[in-house]
Amino acid sequence: MINFEYARANDVADAVRQIAADPTAKFIAGGTNLLDLMKEDVERPTRLIDISRLPLSKIEETPGGGLRIGALVPNSDLAWHPMIAQRYPVLASAILAGASAQLRNMASTGGNLLQRTRCFYFYDTTTPCNKREPGSGCSAITGINRINAILGTSDACIATHPSDMCVALVTLDAKVHVAGPAGERVISIADFHRLPGNTPQHDTNLDANEIVTAVELPARGFANNYTYLKIRDRLSYAFALVSVAVGMEIDGSKIQQARFALGGVAHKPWRDESAEAALTGQDASPETFKRAADLVLRDAKGFEHNAFKIELARRTIVRALTQAARGTPQSQSNKKIA
Ligand SMILES: Cc1cc2nc3c(=O)[nH]c(=O)nc-3n(C[C@H](O)[C@H](O)[C@H](O)COP(=O)(O)OP(=O)(O)OC[C@H]3O[C@@H](n4cnc5c(N)ncnc54)[C@H](O)[C@@H]3O)c2cc1C
Ligand code: SF4
Repeated sequence: MINFEYARANDVADAVRQIAADPTAKFIAGGTNLLDLMKEDVERPTRLIDISRLPLSKIEETPGGGLRIGALVPNSDLAWHPMIAQRYPVLASAILAGASAQLRNMASTGGNLLQRTRCFYFYDTTTPCNKREPGSGCSAITGINRINAILGTSDACIATHPSDMCVALVTLDAKVHVAGPAGERVISIADFHRLPGNTPQHDTNLDANEIVTAVELPARGFANNYTYLKIRDRLSYAFALVSVAVGMEIDGSKIQQARFALGGVAHKPWRDESAEAALTGQDASPETFKRAADLVLRDAKGFEHNAFKIELARRTIVRALTQAARGTPQSQSNKKIA
């Protein structure tokens, strides 16, 4: 048994004060990731600061026509909220493709952003892992790396970011609102998660003494032409081998604007603006989609067990773009059963 203290934060300023005062403390929201990591001895916070009762559970319209989602909005409430389901269906689909109903009821928006990798060796404390113990080495590079990354890897770490929700947020160009001792700031979702480089222990650009307060969606939600396509080993309770979130605007057969991001392939949701630019103004055709997929994957590098992901990603991109362009998005789990 490893002892830890428990304290409840009274408000956001109190949460920031408490985390800034103790570098070994951690926030706890739904606890669905952090408690597992503590049970496995991967994380050892000496103090848990419970933020679950802070007033950050609202979804509100912004003056610019978008939405502000409080960091404590549960994943289920977010996915089923009428404004999300109607205006940002790619986000609803991505959330509902993750975890299970029970987990989504507990999991918070902020916690989902900050969930940690599912690399097997990160959880296995008997093996070297630079993310868990900087400088110890990376067991995945020469080990079982079937679920690991093919883009943006480094010699220090080839882990993937596990969230489905974040892949849709990158496609939507969301912003993350945070508060810290120096005040409030806004981080673009594209800059929120990091590539591993030489410091894979840092998953994000959030400072250790900052709290996520909200996620803001811009007005454009791509509600007519979208898809979230998740390829995994089984249809529920499994993380993505490859996933693709797409949002498009189409006029006739011409693509006016396209955004897409990949999950399961890198240390952060992977967006490549050059591939999106290659779609703009083009016919929505298999050839156009294949060209965009080739561009995204031009620097992909497989390891012993995950090289198959390169071809899988290529086919998933083409299928997802095709579905979005037709306006027939995959929606296996975003419709309530009557
Ligand atoms: C069996 C299982 C299957 C799963 N499958 C999927 C899946 O398929 N797809 C998927 O996307 N996810 C999946 N998940 C992960 C799940 O989505 C996350 O565990 C959940 O979103 C984390 O949210 P939480 O509120 O419980 O976070 P916590 O566990 O409470 O916290 C996670 C981390 O975030 C930090 N944190 C929390 N809130 C804040 C905040 N506001 N500001 C700063 N730091 C904060 C905590 O300190 C901690 O480090 C699965 C989880 C489990 C257990
Ligand atoms: S890939 Fe990253 S998380 Fe996995 S063992 Fe290597 S350093 Fe650790």
